[in-house]
Amino acid sequence: MQALALRVGDLTRVLGDFGDGGEGPTLVVVSGLHGNEPAGVLACQRVCELLDEGGLTRSGRVLLLVGNLAALRAGARYLNRDLNRAWTRAQIDAVRQDGYGDAEDREQRELLGLLDVAVQEARGPVYLLDLHTTSGPGAAFSTVADTLPNRSVALSLPVPMVLGLEELVEGTLHDYMGQHGVTTLAFESGQHQEPEAVDRAEAAVWIVLDTVGLTRDRDAPRVAEGRRLLAQGHRHLPRAVEVRYRHPIAPGDFFRMTEGFGNFQPVRAGEVVGRDRDGEVVSPETARILMPLYQRQGSDGFFVVREFTPFWLRVSRVARRGRLDRVAHWLPGVRRHPEDPHALVVDRGVARWYAMQVLHLLGFRREVEVGDTLVVQRRPHDA
Ligand SMILES: [Zn+2]
Repeated sequence: MQALALRVGDLTRVLGDFGDGGEGPTLVVVSGLHGNEPAGVLACQRVCELLDEGGLTRSGRVLLLVGNLAALRAGARYLNRDLNRAWTRAQIDAVRQDGYGDAEDREQRELLGLLDVAVQEARGPVYLLDLHTTSGPGAAFSTVADTLPNRSVALSLPVPMVLGLEELVEGTLHDYMGQHGVTTLAFESGQHQEPEAVDRAEAAVWIVLDTVGLTRDRDAPRVAEGRRLLAQGHRHLPRAVEVRYRHPIAPGDFFRMTEGFGNFQPVRAGEVVGRDRDGEVVSPETARILMPLYQRQGSDGFFVVREFTPFWLRVSRVARRGRLDRVAHWLPGVRRHPEDPHALVVDRGVARWYAMQVLHLLGFRREVEVGDTLVVQRRPHDA
């Protein structure tokens, strides 16, 4: 199915660059980081046409970039490796030093150059909006690395916000930009080839432009229309959800998702959601399915998410503002990390069931197994 026609022949890395580079905010919008996701690129082209009329009138900058040009031309998620798993320190050093490399090395080197300069030149706060689509159908949503600034921009979009997804994968573009103090969010606007995914991605760009303070008076109707469009299809869904389970897959698993699942579809514990070489694959709990895999490339079969209520969003905001992280090591089985101020060491044999919940509230969501202990980390710049 190829419903969205993106003219890849004359596509360039920089779709648009607007503004005076003054004291105001910088918003970087990246689309097509996965080459089989043209909707975000089409949405950015529309936004560029409209921003072209009179340019930005506010101080600041809007930079719209294409992620994986070569993969977009090929219509594939990637050619040699996933460009949204490539932003680890080792990979970045390798890409910077090596003059050639594979297709994604070249893509990443160009992107790195543009992103680094944008961050260095910015005199105000910097934001990143990363546009994606999913292989399965269903509602749109935002995903963020769990910091308060990221949450607050994501919650300006009237779609569910997914917490705990960014922490499950290493080397995303968010990881890299977040380390440089950039406020980041990803927006998943729908199924790869549905025309509505372009409309929703465009709506998200206008709303985020408005949230960070970069819209012009004449854009007000577009922002309002964008809010209406996104709110319409998502009123029945939770404001925020938390990832409870990830089903990782490898090529030898021969995993196949059962047809008919979509984002946020309710599922019961034990319900069959797919098959692999060992037989039936079931949901571990009664919750909702997210990102069921209906394409060949990818390393996640599906996710299971559960509502994170507005009450707990508020509790966690208050706890972080009150710097309760400084006493998190008082929890049973939890101690300070000897070197990393953004990490804690958890002894699983001693820690009580509620300790992990409290640590999540405080933003410690990334888990790394080290021998029989668990190291939990949170992002810096969470204030
Ligand atoms: Zn993607």
